[in-house]
Amino acid sequence: MQEFSLRTPIGYLKGVGPQRAEVLNKELAIFTFEDLLYYYPFRYNDRSVFSKINQIDPSKPGVQFIARLLDFGIQGERRSRRLVAHVKDDTGIVQLVWFQSIKWVEKNLTIGNAYVIYGSPSLFNNQISISHPEMEPYGGSKQGLKFQPVYASTEKLKKLSLDSKGIQRLVSSLFSSLKGNIYETLPDYIIAKYNLIDLPSALWGIHFPNDGGSIQRSQHRLKFEEFFFLQLKILKTKIAHSQKFKGPIFKKVGEHFTDFYEKKLPFQLTNAQKRVIREIRKDTLHGAQMNRLLQGDVGSGKTIVALMSMLLAIDNGYQACLMAPTEILAQQHYAGLKELLGEERISIDLLTGSIKQKDRKGIHEGLLNGDLNILIGTHALLEEKVKFKNLGLAIIDEQHRFGVEQRSKLWKKNSVPPHMLVMTATPIPRTLAMTLYGDLDISVIDELPVGRKPIATLHFHERSRLRMFGMLREEIAKGRQVYVVYPLIEESEKLDLLHLTAGKEFLEQEFPLPVFKIGILHGKLSPKEKEFEMNRFVKGETQILVATTVIEVGVNVPNASVMVIENAERFGLSQLHQLRGRVGRGAEQSFCILMSKEKLSKESKIRMETMVRTTDGFEIAETDLKLRGPGDLSGTQQSGVLELKLANLATDQALLQLARNEVIDIFEEDPVLELEKNRLLRDFLSKNAFGIGWEKIS
Ligand code: ADP
Ligand code: MG
Repeated sequence: MQEFSLRTPIGYLKGVGPQRAEVLNKELAIFTFEDLLYYYPFRYNDRSVFSKINQIDPSKPGVQFIARLLDFGIQGERRSRRLVAHVKDDTGIVQLVWFQSIKWVEKNLTIGNAYVIYGSPSLFNNQISISHPEMEPYGGSKQGLKFQPVYASTEKLKKLSLDSKGIQRLVSSLFSSLKGNIYETLPDYIIAKYNLIDLPSALWGIHFPNDGGSIQRSQHRLKFEEFFFLQLKILKTKIAHSQKFKGPIFKKVGEHFTDFYEKKLPFQLTNAQKRVIREIRKDTLHGAQMNRLLQGDVGSGKTIVALMSMLLAIDNGYQACLMAPTEILAQQHYAGLKELLGEERISIDLLTGSIKQKDRKGIHEGLLNGDLNILIGTHALLEEKVKFKNLGLAIIDEQHRFGVEQRSKLWKKNSVPPHMLVMTATPIPRTLAMTLYGDLDISVIDELPVGRKPIATLHFHERSRLRMFGMLREEIAKGRQVYVVYPLIEESEKLDLLHLTAGKEFLEQEFPLPVFKIGILHGKLSPKEKEFEMNRFVKGETQILVATTVIEVGVNVPNASVMVIENAERFGLSQLHQLRGRVGRGAEQSFCILMSKEKLSKESKIRMETMVRTTDGFEIAETDLKLRGPGDLSGTQQSGVLELKLANLATDQALLQLARNEVIDIFEEDPVLELEKNRLLRDFLSKNAFGIGWEKIS
């Protein structure tokens, strides 16, 4: 007898063979016995209950009932050719329809016989109809599982008879081949503490459940395991990191910081800002490198936190840099910070792609000899030539535009890596942050400066377009400016650009020259053209800017008070929120107008309602996570979040917290996992070298 293990290639499984193995590899990434074992059903057909025909609810996905076959016959021709049958119980009649396998059905059905029928009902001409139902003779020998697992399959797999049922057969064969060769992965004490079922039972229960309860217990165990091992990897990385990397020590709060705080700061810091500055100060005191993510909604005042952290660095004899994703943003930061610093004896300069070579020389020199304290810039900061004398703090603004690679380059700008502060205006729900950025420390500015008027958000349908124009006219008459944003996605890029230009032309009729001036901005323009258009708007030379989402990140035009979003139903929630954040930066009341068609999907409706109801970025992010799942959120690709098969970041938050806390406790008690009771965990980590975020860099 051959011994099989989890590592055995899937081709060796009885019922697979080379051809199916190849397709399983390609279509489902199933290479080994283990991969198939962890290929879970995505739902179950509940075959434990039977309905009567008059109880069938066409809005429910699956129904099972017993009925007698009345008649069947072919209807329609060619492509609409179908087999139609009627079945009956003592409460009513249901129609069954087949478009395929007609011959097979004809041959196997017998009028007058009773069948157990399962399928998804729908309403057709006011009659309940079920297409392609599963039918078995009533009282037949094939009494299957009460809960039938349903596996995702593909066209190519189905051609090789690997539909859901076929996959189920393979899983069956898998369990017989493996016999007892499935081993526990969690230590006994954890299983006992959280009252979990053992792994072999959980895997069996998820593929072949006896009842709803066993599905639930199996899922619970397997979800816990997913969260637990992900957190184990993440927190291990974090610990390893803090041991490995020394950071500069900012011991004192010196005169630059104090001077600025006492004399120059034009407003009171919010409590949230103060708290974050304290957190950063604490991080930079101990000689370990800081890696901190600063989350704060648009307008929450992250810049001032960045500036004060930089002053801290300078007071301790270090340089600092701030990198922004676009030229315009870098310029705005440069101008803004210069103004805030005023006469301060701090030298600050700007380095972007468009700075001339001859001007760069001075910058390079200033950086090397230490005359230059602060450098603001774009990607240009990452160039080889940019070398610092003593870089102590590197700040990245609007993090989601930069990849890990780019962060790593900043690290290498100093022999002792600088402290890193990554700022983002994309609120990330707590659970996701724990997973995506579990290896970073997280600060949150959860409070807007006082006196900000919340942006009023309105949802208009097409027929209220004139009303929208009226509002724009009023605002422009008050001297304000307006953004009008159109969606642009790759698949329909040409059409979208057409809509954008048509939209602009339409606006030009409503708001004609010479009184009104309208600019246009989209990704197909050259960087020069983009900058030209953006600058015209920043300077107030155009009143309306028609644009795609290229304006999304960080641009600050305090005089802009209206954001119109066309085809708002085509945007995701987070994106809508980001766009809305472009207005409401001045003291005046600002508006966001969501234009959409009348008939919206349920999801789009929730998005519109959420936007109208709240301006709280975290609430919006939570809703977004629930609607879309984490796979769509930026950064999730490289983070291990997608390793989660069962666990759901939106709905299993409590379980994630439980698993994370447990892992924290374990590392506290046993930092290198040397205790015998943690042997399984040590083995796991030695087999699963991890490479998220910072680890890659080292
Ligand atoms: P963001 O977090 O989006 O980067 P900014 O740092 O650009 O926000 O701040 C937005 C605006 O709020 C700026 O004009 C800034 O000067 C102002 N601001 C920041 N903090 C405060 C505060 N505590 N009180 C009043 N205004 C503030
Ligand atoms: Mg900002």
